[in-house]
Amino acid sequence: MIAVLKKDVSESQKQNLVKWLKGHGVEVHISEGQYQTVVGLVGDTSRIDIHLLEGLDMVESVTRISEPFKCANRRFHPADTIVEVGSGENKVLIGGGNTAIIAGPCSVESEEQIVGIARSVKASGASLLRGGAFKPRTSPYDFQGLREDGLELLRIARKETGLPIVTEIMSEKHLDFFEDVDLIQIGARNMQNFELLKALGKVNKPILLKRGLSATVKEWLMSAEYIMAGGNEKIILCERGIRSYDTYTRNVLDLSVIPVLRELTHLPVIVDPSHATGHSRLVPSMSLAAMAAGADGLIIEVHNDPAHALCDGAQSLTPAQFDELAQKIRNLQSVIG
Ligand code: PEP
Ligand code: MN
Repeated sequence: MIAVLKKDVSESQKQNLVKWLKGHGVEVHISEGQYQTVVGLVGDTSRIDIHLLEGLDMVESVTRISEPFKCANRRFHPADTIVEVGSGENKVLIGGGNTAIIAGPCSVESEEQIVGIARSVKASGASLLRGGAFKPRTSPYDFQGLREDGLELLRIARKETGLPIVTEIMSEKHLDFFEDVDLIQIGARNMQNFELLKALGKVNKPILLKRGLSATVKEWLMSAEYIMAGGNEKIILCERGIRSYDTYTRNVLDLSVIPVLRELTHLPVIVDPSHATGHSRLVPSMSLAAMAAGADGLIIEVHNDPAHALCDGAQSLTPAQFDELAQKIRNLQSVIG
């Protein structure tokens, strides 16, 4: 349920209203916009007399939200959410017109590899460094990532370049290792790992939530809701392609989801053209298409030696290819604003 307040309602009136609503056992989220204040109610709102609420002097209107996702709902929070990643002079904003390019290898392989790639993608204009340390591989016989050592190498790369780091968590049992990771990724395979989502709801850190392999938009938003219900509202959604019948590309990149999510949610949305297509030659055009469709950013796999990458070499750009693409993205942005 949401209540839109009349203009000029004082702070103390708002606080009294919040107290009264909380007294009915619901959670209250206030969203102060430029033109209106929206009070969002989550929980068992049947305990609140909607007519009584509507009748209050300070209340303009009351609406029930039929969608099952509440905190993630655009109606709860009409303005775009801007997520801050990292700190100090290397802080990056994503959402609300702030775009960010995340680049780096699928997996961290060695210090030389990750620091070298970090330096080159930074020089090309990337503002965050990606790199998998805990890798969700389809086969147990494939490279599983350097795990804690990989996280340490990411920290070294951050120290060398200043780029905030983005890396995937696979289990809530590993949360302690991720304490100084700037943006924690939940991969497609874990989008509905509800225990992990609940654990990340209690963490004061931004989360990059990838779309599940065959998740509907509503399932994806409900996963965001799991994190937000725990109190963590710093979520960036990432479209990375979904399964379909055609295996020509690794997945099918659903770009229509960008305007769809803009309507449904206030959370920023970025696109991963690497896992979506599976082929490096398709990455530039899909990156530009995603930005043209209004994405808040991209996450792109870049490897210094794709032919010998331990994971996802076929979809990885070389640093030179990334540099060329980054320039094209800037050109496009100067046109679309
Ligand atoms: C990744 O980003 O390395 C990854 C495994 O992606 P996804 O979860 O989208 O498959
Ligand atoms: Mn990968």
